[in-house]
Amino acid sequence: MTVLSSADRDNAEKKVKSSYFDLPSMEISAAFPQATPASKFPPCTSDYYNFNDLLTPEEQAVRKRVREFMEKEVAPIMTEYWEKAEFPFHIIPKFGALGVAGGSIKGYGCPGLSITANAIATAEISRVDASCGTFNLVHTSLGMLTIALCGSEAQKQKYLPDLAQMKTVTCWALTEPDNGSDASALTTTATKVEGGWVLEGQKRWIGNSTFADLLVILARNTTTNQVNGFLVQKDAPGLTVTKIPNKIGLRIVQNGDILLKNVFVPDEERLPGVNSFQDTSKVLAVSRVMVAWQPIGISMGVYDMCHRYLMERKQFGAPLAAFQLNQQKLVKMLGNVQAMFMMGWRLCKLYESGQMTPGQASLGKAWISSKARETASLGRELLGGNGVVGDFLVAKAFGDLEPIFTYEGTYDINTLVTGREVTGIASFKPPASRGRSRL
Ligand SMILES: Cc1cc2nc3c(=O)[nH]c(=O)nc-3n(C[C@H](O)[C@H](O)[C@H](O)COP(=O)(O)OP(=O)(O)OC[C@H]3O[C@@H](n4cnc5c(N)ncnc54)[C@H](O)[C@@H]3O)c2cc1C
Repeated sequence: MTVLSSADRDNAEKKVKSSYFDLPSMEISAAFPQATPASKFPPCTSDYYNFNDLLTPEEQAVRKRVREFMEKEVAPIMTEYWEKAEFPFHIIPKFGALGVAGGSIKGYGCPGLSITANAIATAEISRVDASCGTFNLVHTSLGMLTIALCGSEAQKQKYLPDLAQMKTVTCWALTEPDNGSDASALTTTATKVEGGWVLEGQKRWIGNSTFADLLVILARNTTTNQVNGFLVQKDAPGLTVTKIPNKIGLRIVQNGDILLKNVFVPDEERLPGVNSFQDTSKVLAVSRVMVAWQPIGISMGVYDMCHRYLMERKQFGAPLAAFQLNQQKLVKMLGNVQAMFMMGWRLCKLYESGQMTPGQASLGKAWISSKARETASLGRELLGGNGVVGDFLVAKAFGDLEPIFTYEGTYDINTLVTGREVTGIASFKPPASRGRSRL
């Protein structure tokens, strides 16, 4: 008996299918003429409380510039790239020219934005496409910021100017297969040898890592047992990075599994300011605020899209916007966006005045991302069938929120950070077993 391979079986089955079986899909505007797809991005209707008034002229200008870029350059292509799970490398030069990479870093060719301007840029990028938001956050608020805050003067001068223009791209590798939420327990090692260090270990989930020119790697010093930071060049001997496939969200982001086998890093590429895990906290303080602004932007985009869709789409002889149930959902989403924006804005102000605590940042990230999940879920309902296809944004945003709910500290871990701060009791580790209860 001949056993057919699955490819042969598929080909054999195709022969008995219709002549139109293999035709390309209809263009979405022709397949669904009643509502405009997100490739032509909807106007912003989500700034209901005129938060723009809270921004300085500089912050407003950043907002306008980023919004125009995202709507013009990214909106038309994002669904295609999300579906292919590929990164649109051709937009990087224009992205670099926007003047947001490097965010709040001052000098070295970086824009020196206020934290609020950086946050607004993050929201405006994510309003159109959250993957682009993550690409920039990993590059700017993790990779570049670690070099700016923990690097030597020579490292800053060598790397930051090109990174600020996105002539080169960076990533930031903390998480490991065995150490996710418990990241400070990382086991990748750095062993001192003559003239440098040898890195050994494995990293997982690292955004941008498949194409990053420069990889920031956190590893445990085998002499001191403390966490140190290293700058590793793309294609360093012993370094391999492979893409993590099959994600349900942020599909444009290229997340990698990193293997480090006997990777040599010269002394001058060790970050002198990372001498313990605690030293990463000043980087994470900024990145956590920025990550909190991603779901704000995503929710704005979802609301904007739903608002337009409900006005355009008709059922039972009336626009969907005319039905009370739909209005209620829409208004609930709008209320969420206003509250999320207010919380995010206040976090920025606390940071800028030097008052923000880790617990405040964690509460912001956790609460905002959970409200965004609710908002996207309502939006998904409002769009009916089109709520499950990427062409109308909401399904894509719905998926994109899942990894955001999890990274930069999961919802749970962030609530525990705040919980520890407000109670003085840390509850990350399960209580030690006290033996069998007598009750
Ligand atoms: C798309 C994506 C991009 C990422 N990008 C990066 C990157 O660029 N760089 C990087 O270093 N990392 C990155 N990460 C990793 C991310 O930070 C981790 O996924 C995250 O910290 C959670 O770790 P984990 O996935 O191992 O989950 P786990 O730690 O295994 O957690 C699983 C579940 O258990 C819960 N849990 C764990 N511990 C506790 C506890 N003590 N109490 C209560 N509940 C607990 C968690 O909340 C979660 O619900 C990325 C992840 C994703 C998905």
